[in-house]
Amino acid sequence: MELIFATGNQNKVKAVLAMVPASLDLTIKSMGEIGITDDIPETQNTFSGNALQKSMYLYEKLNVDVFSEDSGLEIEALNNEPGVYSARYAGEDKNHEANMDLVLKKMQGIENRKARFRATISLILNGKEKRFEGFVNGKIAHERKGTGGFGYDPIFIPDGFLYSFGQLPSEVKYGMSHRSRALEKMIDYLVTLQT
Ligand code: IMP
Repeated sequence: MELIFATGNQNKVKAVLAMVPASLDLTIKSMGEIGITDDIPETQNTFSGNALQKSMYLYEKLNVDVFSEDSGLEIEALNNEPGVYSARYAGEDKNHEANMDLVLKKMQGIENRKARFRATISLILNGKEKRFEGFVNGKIAHERKGTGGFGYDPIFIPDGFLYSFGQLPSEVKYGMSHRSRALEKMIDYLVTLQT
């Protein structure tokens, strides 16, 4: 089975490729590998809506099996901001440093630091669409910690850990992240189709 991953984000591609078990007959190709450089629109106001919009865009363009993923950070004390605006919270240039600065500024003096990363995957296989969701709970740090990962990783401390996603080794993050959990559900589904 071959699936095209509807993303231009190489961090997401890396994380997803690291998770596919060798036993599964599945090849995942990035858009770059098949020569597509489109900046796929994501104009919906839910993760689920954006995931569907991205997978439908590529499916309608190529008419092949595809999946997409939409993800972001939800902070309880900020009414679940930045949410679907996570990538462009501080502006359209999608600057991770500016986004973290804005979160840290808005969280100044706030004691409730509860937050979660959330990911929704939309899979279109043989023309049928299915969605899978994953979460990881944690809290917002008071300052950046570490330089690993991407996005909000340096200011997100997953529950049960003293270190941020920016400090933890990538295998640890991949083992527990929102994206991995949503992907695990998709992989379980694909496994049931192959057995
Ligand atoms: P998307 O490409 O619209 O799904 O944007 C997702 C945005 O959410 C990213 O640009 C990051 O700002 C944030 N995000 C999603 N997943 C992660 C993660 O695993 N670590 C850090 N930030 C993330």
